[in-house]
Amino acid sequence: MIIIENVAVATVDEAGTEYADGHVVVGGDGRIAAVGPGDADVPGPRIDGTGCLVTPGLVNTHHHLYQWATRGLALDETLFGWLTTLYPIWGRLDAGIVGAAAGAGLGWLALSGCTTSMDHHYVFPRDGGDVLQAEIEAARTIGLRFHPTRGSMDLGRKDGGLPPDNVVEETDEALAATEAAIDRWHDPSPDAMLQIAVAPCSPFSVTTRLMEEAAVLARRKGVRLHTHLAETDDEEEFCRKQFGCTPVEYAERVGWLGNDVWLAHGVHLDDSAIARLGATGTGVAHCPSSNARLGAGAARVRELLDSRVPVGLGVDGAASQEVSHLGAELRQALYTARLRGGPKAMNAREALRLGTIGGARCLGRQDDLGSLEVGKLADLVLWRLDGLGHEGIDDKVAALVFGPPAPVELALVGGKPVVERGELVNADEETLTRAARDAHRRLLTGR
Ligand SMILES: [Zn+2]
Repeated sequence: MIIIENVAVATVDEAGTEYADGHVVVGGDGRIAAVGPGDADVPGPRIDGTGCLVTPGLVNTHHHLYQWATRGLALDETLFGWLTTLYPIWGRLDAGIVGAAAGAGLGWLALSGCTTSMDHHYVFPRDGGDVLQAEIEAARTIGLRFHPTRGSMDLGRKDGGLPPDNVVEETDEALAATEAAIDRWHDPSPDAMLQIAVAPCSPFSVTTRLMEEAAVLARRKGVRLHTHLAETDDEEEFCRKQFGCTPVEYAERVGWLGNDVWLAHGVHLDDSAIARLGATGTGVAHCPSSNARLGAGAARVRELLDSRVPVGLGVDGAASQEVSHLGAELRQALYTARLRGGPKAMNAREALRLGTIGGARCLGRQDDLGSLEVGKLADLVLWRLDGLGHEGIDDKVAALVFGPPAPVELALVGGKPVVERGELVNADEETLTRAARDAHRRLLTGR
């Protein structure tokens, strides 16, 4: 049992319950046994949370962990320019490189207050080894709850797609490998540390048949669906030319709208597209820093929320936004909303909701994750807010969102510590850094 006291609490429950001075008790089953004002009414050793705010752990809804090995490249490109620069490099990925990149990316996410992350992996070089297993092992080492998706690309340049032909798979091969990944790893239990989703990459790198059959496969297996959609004007133009419709109309045509689907980006959406997402319960992984880095645009998050679309936050791949810090994404989301819609477009608590319960809804884990409520999994973060960067901002949620990225005093996943006093519990930051540096060098130079 873990008892945290003398702490400000933001539960992020439906009513937005907060306690200026409260407690959280974690039971031996890794779930929250109590949360409330004042001291806890149970005996046992205490963690003193003075100077800290406790929130649900952040949920990352879009990432490409392998991209940690290709940070700092194609710095001034649009999405299509950036992709065509990087595809040939990614074609040389192997399990060793992906494992090192995933270790770095997941370690960094944990230090940024993230307790659950998805990953979207869609590059499977023929001689690359078992890259999905490599990142799953990295997540087990760091201790994060992990939702890797089995991605895929089967539309190469010779068939009118964007990626070079040597980085795409055959359609049936991709579907079979996706089904095998679900059978091998997907854990449907409420306490699951590992769940798989089905994730063909994007309209311009995937055939219509793969999109359609992937949706059928996911529903037959009872797992979720994820893809990139409506990220850039170039994609919209591609869809209009190839399919004669918008990206969301295309998604609907291939069976990709529904409350078991969440889409990365959703930047270029008109009113009718937003209404369709809301009516079908289709989620959106909002990635404001990546959208800014690639100059893709600013998602209409206020309108999405007003249409009851589930919206979570994603850092996106580390090669399209080198910060990759989920705590920092809270502020980026708030700023992005305000640049579009003025200071009333989003407040600090709405930003925190995106990063917690909004993300849990995207991953289908809202019954067990995303808020501090009795019976939910004890995935939580104690943010230190009494240092130079935050002291004096009396509203603790405002300090977390408006202030600089806050140090993580403690992060628990299912009641188990993964970060303590700003350091990883299960891995060594310097070792991760060295492995990532070597992976980057090997990928870029072959040595
Ligand atoms: Zn992405």
